[in-house]
Amino acid sequence: MIFFQNYIDGKFCAPVSGKYLDDVNPATGQTYAQIPDSDAQDLAQAVAAASRVQQAWANTSPNQRAAFLLQIADAISQNLDEFALAECEDNGKPLEVAKSVDIPRAALNFTFFAQAITQFSSESHATPQVINYTLRQPVGIVACISPWNLPLYLFTWKIAPALAAGNCVIAKPSEITPRTAYLLSKIVSEVGLPAGVLNILHGLGSKIGSAMVAHPQIKAISFTGGTATGKAIASIAAPMFKKVSLELGGKNPALVFASCDFDTTVREVARASFSNQGQICLCSSRIYIEKSIYEQFKTAFVAKVKALHVGDPLENGSQLGAVVSEAHLEKILSYIALAKEEGGTLLCGGERVYLGGRCAEGYFVQPTVFENLPNHCRTNQEEIFGPVVTLQPFENEAEALALANDSTYGLAASVWTSDLSQAHRVAEKLQTGIVWVNTWMLRDLRTPFGGAKHSGVGREGGLEALRFFTEAKNVCIRY
Ligand code: NAD
Repeated sequence: MIFFQNYIDGKFCAPVSGKYLDDVNPATGQTYAQIPDSDAQDLAQAVAAASRVQQAWANTSPNQRAAFLLQIADAISQNLDEFALAECEDNGKPLEVAKSVDIPRAALNFTFFAQAITQFSSESHATPQVINYTLRQPVGIVACISPWNLPLYLFTWKIAPALAAGNCVIAKPSEITPRTAYLLSKIVSEVGLPAGVLNILHGLGSKIGSAMVAHPQIKAISFTGGTATGKAIASIAAPMFKKVSLELGGKNPALVFASCDFDTTVREVARASFSNQGQICLCSSRIYIEKSIYEQFKTAFVAKVKALHVGDPLENGSQLGAVVSEAHLEKILSYIALAKEEGGTLLCGGERVYLGGRCAEGYFVQPTVFENLPNHCRTNQEEIFGPVVTLQPFENEAEALALANDSTYGLAASVWTSDLSQAHRVAEKLQTGIVWVNTWMLRDLRTPFGGAKHSGVGREGGLEALRFFTEAKNVCIRY
């Protein structure tokens, strides 16, 4: 049994309470590690450490901070195999995915914000005899709270800009996938980031997470997770006038028009639906298809999905691994049952997968496709966050837009068309924070990232993140 520890004030610490939580490998169903069940006592130590060093860290130059971030990025890259294996075992995702997507991106998050902070500038506004200039100062001590689906990728996406902008950070990974965050704390210690600048606490959202949100010395909260959690966080943070950035759930539409490049669209919409077992906030789950190609698309898409291989995440060739936990498996299976109750026609999948050998107790589900479900039913309105999608036909562009926008969520959409004017028209009318045209999850880290409606508040990425993690102060001088 491995015991993970908190990282506070540059030291590895057991939780003050002495209590631990189980960490399960979802591919085997076995508990393989114990993580601190941290509480307000651990938080108090982290806040005290961060308070001591905050001003000194804020006074470092952008170049000095960038140098630390680049060292962290290098160390992650040098330990790619160890990190990827840890992510695979903790989350259930295929090892190849962790190696090619999650861990390289975590390293890139540090490289990107190391470079970004050296280029960050603020505005000045001049009129005769008056100049205004804006200072962008660190917020102070900030909290970064992240989910389990892209564990290190999303954890570092918050920590890197927060540190780059001169803040001290108290960060909490998901209790379901804490392992790469623990490995990160070892790297942070090795590169000699000053003690107290980054503190990593493990434990439950309802205990240490909510204590972080409510702590009066924590001035900003960057959160990624479910919409209900985001609402709970906002209700605590708002009366305390804290800055919040909330990246929440999605129910993302893919709009497939008759003019699309057919083969590419079938392949890419399948990728958008089932990557990471459908557990990416950006995954497509509502697929709308122009009526004239509906049957042809359905046949090709279902054939593609049936060919996807669900297997041991450690084996090459496994395209879908395990879903993250037993509770999440049950949730996904309950939505499959609901889709049937709501009158959906099952086109493929729909069952738990039982693999043999070391994965006999693992949490695997077939990629699943339904049709014949109305847009307003729960299957089409609620976030399942697993490998389950629905197909629906549409008559024309107006109907496609109406269906796509008929959702409380507004994170991301993809549009598949070779009509350029249509692409612009539709992109402009979609009520989402992100629109991809003839592609999916193609990311440029400089762009604003985030959702509309119940998918979030605020944007991450590039300048947006650096602005979030700084306080703007205008200085007006008459001369
Ligand atoms: P979650 O909301 O249950 O947990 C996310 C994090 O918040 C975890 O670290 C958890 O411990 C913590 N937490 C839980 N309750 C808390 C509380 N009351 N106060 C403070 N912290 C608390 O979400 P999850 O199940 O880990 O992740 C899945 C969700 O995340 C999905 O809804 C998915 O769409 C969303 N997500 C969104 C994005 C995005 O960028 N918009 C990206 C990835 C995942």
